[in-house]
Amino acid sequence: MTKFSIVSIARNALTHHENWPRQWRNPDPKPSYDVVIVGGGGHGLGTAYYLAKEHGVSNVAVLEKNWLGGGNTGRNTTIVRSNYLWDESAHLYEHSLKLWEKLSQDLNFNVMFSQRGVINLAHNLQDVRASRRRLYANRLNGIDAEWLEPEQVKAFCPILNVSPDARYPVLGATLQRRAGVARHDAVAWGYARAADARGVDIIQGCEVTGIMREGNRVTGVDTTRGVIKTRKAAIVVAGDTSVLAGMAGLRLPIQSHPLQALVSDSIKPVLHTVVMSGAVHVYVSQSDKGELVIGSGIDALTAYGQRGSFHLIEGQMAALKELFPIFSRMRMMRAWAGTVDTCPDASPIVSKTPIDGFYINGGWGTGGFKSTPGSAWCFAHTIARDEPHPLNAPFSLDRFVSGRLIDEHGAAAVAH
Ligand SMILES: Cc1cc2nc3c(=O)[nH]c(=O)nc-3n(C[C@H](O)[C@H](O)[C@H](O)COP(=O)(O)OP(=O)(O)OC[C@H]3O[C@@H](n4cnc5c(N)ncnc54)[C@H](O)[C@@H]3O)c2cc1C
Repeated sequence: MTKFSIVSIARNALTHHENWPRQWRNPDPKPSYDVVIVGGGGHGLGTAYYLAKEHGVSNVAVLEKNWLGGGNTGRNTTIVRSNYLWDESAHLYEHSLKLWEKLSQDLNFNVMFSQRGVINLAHNLQDVRASRRRLYANRLNGIDAEWLEPEQVKAFCPILNVSPDARYPVLGATLQRRAGVARHDAVAWGYARAADARGVDIIQGCEVTGIMREGNRVTGVDTTRGVIKTRKAAIVVAGDTSVLAGMAGLRLPIQSHPLQALVSDSIKPVLHTVVMSGAVHVYVSQSDKGELVIGSGIDALTAYGQRGSFHLIEGQMAALKELFPIFSRMRMMRAWAGTVDTCPDASPIVSKTPIDGFYINGGWGTGGFKSTPGSAWCFAHTIARDEPHPLNAPFSLDRFVSGRLIDEHGAAAVAH
């Protein structure tokens, strides 16, 4: 693997950056692997990386039907934070945030993680109470969390409208300073490169069309490039989780919805933090290129199409203009959507299944980018040792039978 350093960049600058080698191989699938991971998003590639790095399991294939990072990993608004309510979630997301803080060095790849802070606005008394409850819970879990009064919100983000005359006035906000944004596709590429360097085969353009079983044990996967044998198949396919689980005969409590986002024209830096509002439903940050990156709530219909509806854009823009009158004459440049996999309690499934050798990582819904390193790290442990790590044990499938749900609808901050 090329070692990125100031010397390698300077050397390649002399040849106009035309001689960089391929960053990962493009192998044909082998007839069998110890582990097959279905889905080449951040979670799948990260799982392969940690399987090789932490557990010495490198006879692994990652199968991706399209191209790396072409799913939700490359379509999201990149907000990273760990201020979730319940202990189980707080521990998992905080573990992830700690991995984020060292990820660029660990992968020797700049994922552009920028800890510019995230504020979650409160617009009514219920919002204030729920936000402060979450803040105290965060502090009890050792997670940084601050409460800002409206004038402090204004001082932290001067272009935000905190006028009491606003239709949804800002009554305060939580602030997590260690939170921020990262470069989405760099996460997929960084993990791909580092996993490949440890011997993992990354195979793009290879769709899994069937999960093969003998009795209660997985024996392989059927793909558009032939049968691949394995005794451990792990699906990490976000919006397609129910479809892939169905191939193995499992029915999951997951619904898939479109979730869309858009970006504006580029402007000079004006927004130095991330602002989220669950109540009026918009969240916005400014990318390093100068675009405003703007997200909204999910589309209510269940669907697999990677496109959103106009009425959501209308509501999202109305909320944006209300909060930031300064943006009212901006032009929007492009919009897109992904398919998000939502669980009834707005928490993910990172779990073994009743089928031997079949593992599921999904249900991250609208919030799985932030968890990419932590989720992948725990899932690698679960696959390698055939038992969950204590961090992901509460996120097992059987909580939908036991009733031990982890209700994170408030902290998820996007309606689903
Ligand atoms: C508009 C939008 C905004 C978002 N904003 C945020 C945010 O700000 N912060 C946050 O934390 N999260 C956010 N999310 C959620 C986040 O993007 C996802 O939870 C996360 O990226 C999921 O990663 P993944 O690797 O599990 O899935 P993906 O990146 O979707 O990867 C799954 C891959 O599986 C592949 N696949 C599917 N079926 C098959 C098959 N049969 N065979 C082979 N391959 C298959 C797909 O092609 C895809 O590449 C957002 C999502 C969207 C859509």
